[in-house]
Amino acid sequence: MEYLWWVLIFFTGAAVGSFLNVCICRMPVNESVVYPPSHCPACGEKLWFGDLVPILSYLFLKGRCRYCDCRIAWQYPVVEFATGFLFVLAVAKYGLTMGTLRTIVLFSIIIPAMAIDLKYKIIPDRLNLAGVLFGIPLICESKEVFITHGIGFLAGGGLLLLIALASRGGMGGGDIKLVSVIGLLLGWKLLLPALFLAFLTGGVVGITMLLVKKIGRKDPVPFGPYLAIGAVLAALAGDQMIGWYLGLTGAF
Ligand SMILES: [Zn+2]
Repeated sequence: MEYLWWVLIFFTGAAVGSFLNVCICRMPVNESVVYPPSHCPACGEKLWFGDLVPILSYLFLKGRCRYCDCRIAWQYPVVEFATGFLFVLAVAKYGLTMGTLRTIVLFSIIIPAMAIDLKYKIIPDRLNLAGVLFGIPLICESKEVFITHGIGFLAGGGLLLLIALASRGGMGGGDIKLVSVIGLLLGWKLLLPALFLAFLTGGVVGITMLLVKKIGRKDPVPFGPYLAIGAVLAALAGDQMIGWYLGLTGAF
């Protein structure tokens, strides 16, 4: 029966992913994420429950709107699946703890941050604000957690602010706020591998794109997607990575 438990967690995550899709579509154009209710972006027809079951509706409708037969963007099932999958990994890693809640809030912020940054090259303030508002109650678990995560919040933003000033606007304000949110939800210890992986993957991709002349030297590169990748990897395997690194350098 245990697999039913994981199916339940997966579909809980996928349902959250369904809401994240709404955030991805509406936040960058300053629309409310709660009103009006979900509708087809092509024909405007209001969707009912049967159209809104995560992943399954998309498969059942074969990726087309029930009313006007237009194609449903693949973003919808992909975000739903990714969110469900990451929720399963979060629970598998942290069990039934506050750490799981912080991790799933983190994932629920960085998935839309990544999608919106890729599409619009911005990270909306209200997305970061949601991370802070959901995050702060979750770090009040104990004094130790509060301090570790509070430092992550302040250090994350402060460090990136310095880099932004040094690089003269090479890094956007939305990125800095997102690093603060990641620091708040991961704590400063896991923020370090998250940032390391973000700069590493961002650097590799950026240099590759420069080499194949996909982008020019002056083109802005959205950093949000790399922050998201770094944060996911750090949340799921950051402690092993730190242990491995400390063992390698013989620090302990
Ligand atoms: Zn339609």
